[in-house]
Amino acid sequence: MRIARFSLDGTVGYGVVEGDADTQGGPVIDIIKGIPYGDFERSGTKIPLDKVRLLSPVLPNKIVAIGRNYAEHAAELGNDVPDVPVAFFKPATSVIGPGDPIAYPSFSQEVHHEAELAVVIGRMCREVPRERVKDVILGYTCANDVTARDVQRREQQWARAKGFDTSCPLGPWVETDLDPHNLGIMCTVNGQQRQLGRTSDMVRSVEDLIVHITEAMTLLPGDVVLTGTPAGVGPLVVGDEVAVTIEGIGTLTNKVIKRG
Ligand code: MG
Repeated sequence: MRIARFSLDGTVGYGVVEGDADTQGGPVIDIIKGIPYGDFERSGTKIPLDKVRLLSPVLPNKIVAIGRNYAEHAAELGNDVPDVPVAFFKPATSVIGPGDPIAYPSFSQEVHHEAELAVVIGRMCREVPRERVKDVILGYTCANDVTARDVQRREQQWARAKGFDTSCPLGPWVETDLDPHNLGIMCTVNGQQRQLGRTSDMVRSVEDLIVHITEAMTLLPGDVVLTGTPAGVGPLVVGDEVAVTIEGIGTLTNKVIKRG
């Protein structure tokens, strides 16, 4: 099931996306009564997908991101795979949705794309044992861990480098029926392939990461865990169109603009 968040005529809601481009009449969104955490009802009111504006599919309280979780990517930046996962936060204010612009920050000259599988948490949890991890996950979406690489090198903590406004595109929706362990993950810039990997190359699995993070902190419904990026990261410039595609989910596309 694909759960999207959308706006239509000034109203914001959640819905289940049904069908695709090949479906007669095109895909539709079946509006959900309330929020998609726990049991929910579909209203049966269906709107063509091209009539709504898709928003970030979740509004996280926090985003916990993992660095250097693909060996080839760690190596391309001259780093080893760490003994313990590197975890950092991106703030809620960094989140944007599909089609929203990435605003190039004034304090960087080297902003990179990082295509990542995002885990969306479905229920409040802490100290989750490995065998219960699947019970706390609502589903998966595409993310771009947009990074000011020059600032990341210069500053000890990555709060500014990875936390600036618009640095966390998420979407286009949350896919709830997905095995995350061997999915193709790709990033293109202006249609040219930059990153190509498989989630099977993660050093630590989704289960490892949820156990590790919830050992320290409570995760809330809608919280997001970014699982690291495969090799091939590189620069974005104003005017670029960057797209993250994950097998079984879809494509998240954003344009880079000058910060106004
Ligand atoms: Mg990253």
